[in-house]
Amino acid sequence: WPGCKHRNVTYDQLRRILLDTPSSEKAEEWSRYYTSGPHLAGKNLSQAVWTKDKWEEFGVRSEIVPYDVYINYPVDHRLALLEKKEESDGASSWKVAFEASLTEDAIDEDPTSDLNDRIPTFHGYSASGNVTAPVVYVNFGTFQDFEDLIKANISLAGKIAIARYGGIFRGLKVKRAQELGMLGVILYSDPGDDGDNTEANGVATYPDGPARQPSSVQRGSTQFLSVAPGDPTTPGYPSKPGVPRQPVDGAIPSIPSIPISYLDALPILKALNGHGPKADDFNQWWTRNTGLHYKGVEYNIGPTPDDLVVNLYNQQEYVITPLWNVIGVINGTIPDEVIIVGNHRDAWIAGGAGDPNSGSAVINEVIRSFGEAVRQGWKPLRTIVFASWDGEEYGLVGSTEWVEEYLPWISKANVAYLNVDVGTSGHHFKASASPLLDNVIYAATKSVLSPNQTVLGQTVYDVWNRRITTMGSGSDFTAFQDFAGVPSLDVGFGPSPGDAVYHYHSNYDSFHWMEKFGDSGFVYHRAMAQIMSLITAQVADLPLVSFKAKDYADALGNYVKKVEDKLEEALSPSSVLKASAMSDEAIIELRASHRETSKLSNDNNDKRIPSHDALAFKDALGKLYKAVLKLKVASLELDQRAKELESRIHQHIPWWKWPKWIRLGLEIRRVNTKYKYLERDFLHAEGLDSRPWFKHVVFAPGLWTGYAGAVFPGLVESIDTEDWTNARRWVDIIEGRILTATKNLEASGHHEE
Ligand code: GLU
Ligand code: CA
Ligand code: ZN
Ligand code: ZN
Repeated sequence: WPGCKHRNVTYDQLRRILLDTPSSEKAEEWSRYYTSGPHLAGKNLSQAVWTKDKWEEFGVRSEIVPYDVYINYPVDHRLALLEKKEESDGASSWKVAFEASLTEDAIDEDPTSDLNDRIPTFHGYSASGNVTAPVVYVNFGTFQDFEDLIKANISLAGKIAIARYGGIFRGLKVKRAQELGMLGVILYSDPGDDGDNTEANGVATYPDGPARQPSSVQRGSTQFLSVAPGDPTTPGYPSKPGVPRQPVDGAIPSIPSIPISYLDALPILKALNGHGPKADDFNQWWTRNTGLHYKGVEYNIGPTPDDLVVNLYNQQEYVITPLWNVIGVINGTIPDEVIIVGNHRDAWIAGGAGDPNSGSAVINEVIRSFGEAVRQGWKPLRTIVFASWDGEEYGLVGSTEWVEEYLPWISKANVAYLNVDVGTSGHHFKASASPLLDNVIYAATKSVLSPNQTVLGQTVYDVWNRRITTMGSGSDFTAFQDFAGVPSLDVGFGPSPGDAVYHYHSNYDSFHWMEKFGDSGFVYHRAMAQIMSLITAQVADLPLVSFKAKDYADALGNYVKKVEDKLEEALSPSSVLKASAMSDEAIIELRASHRETSKLSNDNNDKRIPSHDALAFKDALGKLYKAVLKLKVASLELDQRAKELESRIHQHIPWWKWPKWIRLGLEIRRVNTKYKYLERDFLHAEGLDSRPWFKHVVFAPGLWTGYAGAVFPGLVESIDTEDWTNARRWVDIIEGRILTATKNLEASGHHEE
């Protein structure tokens, strides 16, 4: 117990070790190692072995767990602008007006940016193809952007889309373009999205300054993430050698796509000048952060005329290849209460100093710190499992296959999953979590000094906006949270206004960038290791599981309110939302839902007549409020019981009253079991309507956002499509889950499905 004399290392001493052990020097050393060579999924065995050896050296028993997965490697590509020229004799021929370089510049002072040591620019899970067609600018390529284009009668079928990165997960841009009959997709990084640190503002570009290197390219997966993550040929079961494999249609693109820099995008965007309407003709969303005006881009939509076309050639090799997770274990005293801490190891590029290796360096420091505690005689109450995932970049492949394989054990024993992906890419602390874990994040950040103190002694908590977002997707927590119903969190320091531009998935996410701009001195790495360690200790080593059931009930109440507000918006045509008065995040969220976003359009002809169905449906939400209230009562009782038990631990009970001790132990065990299974109760076995892999009725990645989370996804999607029968069905499903959770929390309740 905390402070207990009978343990070799008390909880307070453990915390001291975890705060004192992580060092910037060591983090830098791990960063230097991981960023010194390529580590594409399935091609990083030496780094898996190195990681396993290190963890064992730190005193944590580890093993490599392989899977045979279906992924692609780049073979060849081309992107060119072709112009039809009339010859003097009346014949015509095609001329290459522009040939894209498709390479990032080698920079002398940044060794891993060297030409010989890198992976060609490409998209994970992209389709091979060779297409030639006029091009259309589709803004960010969100669902609503395409709706705006359809409304404006822009012809999309048979054309190639050029979209800027940002707003939503890239694979969903390709998904929508494909559904609309487009032939291919070009994605480029518009510097307008980089904040104030831009070339246009006269800021020097990397490596001379913090602005974006103009040739930088964002690689990345175009898997249809919101349909299902993991190996697309084995949805729901592990990719062990020899397993049957499913057809991949519907899970990954069938049209080719290619990522490019803004340098390569310029001639294509300029070719659009004068063709079709301008972005200005649409709405504020379309002109938000367009950053290439200073280079002569007018942001016309197009399409380009038939004699001015783009050739997009993409050749990918698809293979079934092993990849390697590294799994380490510190056995606890309680065998069926397990905490899992994970980070991915694979990267698109040789460097990857931010993504994922700042996280990998952090995890190594966390493990080294816990190893130190073990060396001093500490044994955790709960078992701690550490994971270095492979194949995250292609679509969370290593973690998803592992969760699918160990699902029975995870369901029974896993108390929490703690993720750190990009540990450091800026100076702003960011967190998303299941509501059960909010209090743990607050507690840990209160105990760690900020590397950026304006007042001496400020903690990370003090300088943080304290916003914890809901779990969406985009990293390895997804299978734990959405498939297995394990309360999860994801933390890291990310860029904020003023920070140097982070070259996400580019060759310049390198050790050199990190050292010079991202985290010189590796002080944020160290702080992140301290935070992660304290979070782990709190959930693994306190007698009572550190969850607040009340926080879950309160969050559910807020989510029901959100749904109600959404209905109200839909029912009152007068409430036109002002995009200009909203935060970027709020706009993105709003834009993601096509029902509400029509209000952001310039024309408000789209006034909806409140249907009786919709009005009647509002009453159905009353059921959810009632259920949440019941859950809240049971939650408060449980949290109260946990508090009482906690205080009894600290009372002195003489040894001869051992039956009292045993009774206390059993009662703690009962409370902990209730906490452990609370999140599980929100799983719906059949899954969401169009994506049965996603089982959680409260959290899922937004259907058309990917990264950003949706709450009550089944319900909200039914409202979006005005399918009131289905919406009612979802109210019943959610109500059923909340009432089951309530019953299981009650003192007399035993855990039931
Ligand atoms: N984190 C990676 C990305 O955003 C992978 C996400 C995914 O495919 O789920 O590109
Ligand atoms: Ca699978
Ligand atoms: Zn990552
Ligand atoms: Zn990544």
